[in-house]
Amino acid sequence: MRDKLIEKLIKGEEKRQAEGLELIPSENYVSEDVLKANGSVFTNKYSEGYPGRRYYGGQDFTDQVERLAIERVCKLFNCKFANVQPHSGAPANLAVYAALLTPGDTVLGMDLSHGGHLTHGHPMTLPAKIYKFVTYKMKNPDTGEIDYEDMRRVALETKPKLIIAGFSAYPRTLNYKKFVEIAREVGAITMADMAHIAGLIAAGALRNPFDDGFDIITSTTHKTLRGPRGGIILTRENEEIAKKIDKAIFPGIQGGPHMHTIAAKAVAFGEAMTPSFKKYAKQVLKNAKAMEEVFRKNKIRMIGGGTDNHLILADVFGSLGVTGKEAQTVLDEVGITLNMNAIAGDTRKPLDPSGIRFGTPAITTRGFREKECKYVAELMIKVLKNKDDKKLKEYIHKEIKKLAKKFPIPKKFV
Ligand SMILES: *Cc1c(COP(=O)(O)O)cnc(C)c1O
Repeated sequence: MRDKLIEKLIKGEEKRQAEGLELIPSENYVSEDVLKANGSVFTNKYSEGYPGRRYYGGQDFTDQVERLAIERVCKLFNCKFANVQPHSGAPANLAVYAALLTPGDTVLGMDLSHGGHLTHGHPMTLPAKIYKFVTYKMKNPDTGEIDYEDMRRVALETKPKLIIAGFSAYPRTLNYKKFVEIAREVGAITMADMAHIAGLIAAGALRNPFDDGFDIITSTTHKTLRGPRGGIILTRENEEIAKKIDKAIFPGIQGGPHMHTIAAKAVAFGEAMTPSFKKYAKQVLKNAKAMEEVFRKNKIRMIGGGTDNHLILADVFGSLGVTGKEAQTVLDEVGITLNMNAIAGDTRKPLDPSGIRFGTPAITTRGFREKECKYVAELMIKVLKNKDDKKLKEYIHKEIKKLAKKFPIPKKFV
């Protein structure tokens, strides 16, 4: 590379990723093929519009790439229509709102402090300024069960046009049938934002909301789905909804699609269809269970009481007297990356909350199995219990580096 400054920074990031353990549950590693497609000459091309209906010439190859991406993702999630152009998860959600709602309409989504995502109505976001968001919550943070009775009450009272199932910090499974039941009762459209768990659904390791009658799925492509940074919107069977969504993406909120990213998405969708990806997804869940076991043995409180998916939310302040921020910092020192997270009913501030959130998608891609995951969980707890013990932290950092070296980030998955 001619730009030595940037080259050095890329090398630095490569080294950081290689030597540390990534436990942020929304992160993963892509294959060499995904990386290659993402860095391809498609980045040079303008393709406003959709396959066969573009505003620029020279679309022989872009049309084929986008059609392949659509065909593969529809097969993967068992649906009829897909828009593969959203630049990311947030614009995908915004496009669904723009397509189906009028300003002032009500949307029912999961409360942010109970695991929902910013894009489901946080007051700082643009959607929250345009639409009215109401929320549902867990009945009991120690079991994680959603309060469906209260959700129905809120729905009957506020008549939402759209009901969203989805989360970024919730460790249990949702009862999709209940969502659909309530939505039908109040005449709402159902959308599942599967950003975190799309890969696990594609592999059949977790339930597909379409199988329970959901209308729409939105997702990112870079979390468990192990593709490039990007978004998708899937529609099960309603062509009218699908057409509105296409218009909302382009020309509604986006200009030219990122064809290099769409090529990389197509590669990732292809990889997600293989038997080895199915094995991967199953192992992600087994590994999370293994870490759960260690946390339970050590009597550390977990929100939801444990996990059914790829992530764990631990109340480190309540259980160990270590704040979320302190935990994040001290684990960073020994080569483990995760994030502080507010927990339901948190009495602490968002910038230094009571919890940490961590998960297994990235370390499972590296080849970790239950044994290694248990060991990492044990090391994490040791650090948290002895956060001022410099010698111990040095030893643990060495152990983490050894593990990272033994399980290098793979270049090929299939
Ligand atoms: C990550 C995430 C998003 C946003 O994705 P970006 O790619 O960061 O825009 C949306 N919804 C949920 C549930 C997420 O977890």
